[in-house]
Amino acid sequence: MKIKIALLTLFLSFSSQAKKIAITFDDAPMPDSALFTGEQRTNKIINSLQKSGVQDALFFITTKHITPESQSRLKTYTDAGFHLANHSHAHISANKNDVDTFIKDFNQAHNILENKASFLPFYRFPYLHHGNTVQKRDQIRAHLQASGYQQGYVTIDNYEWYLNSKLQQALNKQKAIDYEALKQVYITTLADGIAFYDEIAIKALGRSPKHVLLLHENDITALFVGDLIAHLKSKGWEIISAQQAYTDPIAKELPDVLFNGQGRVAAIANSKGVAAKTMVGKWESTDKLDALLAQKKVFK
Ligand SMILES: [Zn+2]
Repeated sequence: MKIKIALLTLFLSFSSQAKKIAITFDDAPMPDSALFTGEQRTNKIINSLQKSGVQDALFFITTKHITPESQSRLKTYTDAGFHLANHSHAHISANKNDVDTFIKDFNQAHNILENKASFLPFYRFPYLHHGNTVQKRDQIRAHLQASGYQQGYVTIDNYEWYLNSKLQQALNKQKAIDYEALKQVYITTLADGIAFYDEIAIKALGRSPKHVLLLHENDITALFVGDLIAHLKSKGWEIISAQQAYTDPIAKELPDVLFNGQGRVAAIANSKGVAAKTMVGKWESTDKLDALLAQKKVFK
């Protein structure tokens, strides 16, 4: 009996420690590339997620990317059980535009998305720019709230978009590409980033929150997201939906800081006095990524 109880306690303590992370994809539906048509990319991403047992993921739509050709891909995602949310119309920065321009762009995207199947009212700020003054930030926050939205924040920032841009450059220059080496760089840099922001959370919150990983609906995702998920699972992570992640108490906490570009956990830590400059992951640097890509001979 005692053994049974001990085992149960052990099991409960392990399961309550299972770290949880949701996967989100920005900028969908991205245009055709030298590697994949948009449709091929969408099918590859869906296949990878389904093979990995990921039942739900959130695609943040940049509505100016919706064309007569790409329109059907939104339905392909939602027919597969995934959800859509708002990532602006024209991908404009809240730091570089006035409030009226920003809100007009938000509304334009909302009008396009609100009646789509499986749309959820979460807003992901382009460039993770929430506004560069307190007044602007708060006016935008108030408008999102009045529109029935929650912030579609991230907790894990990273430079996966830069790896994708280097891949596109190599494709356009018809360089030889070592895809296996690129996959290792992708997995290593993302796994390091996840561990980095989780450590910040444990120090600042005293616990590991339900995380939200920022990825993009790009070629590097289509190539390697399945491998990334397998790696995360092997390290004890459980993949959850974004809706589940946004039930974490940090979703209700809007820290009174202007430091939002590294995500919600870093913003909360900053509001508790942690210096902003200490909260940028080591791979959030084009120089360091260039050096790593060269060292691993990814592009010849
Ligand atoms: Zn974006």
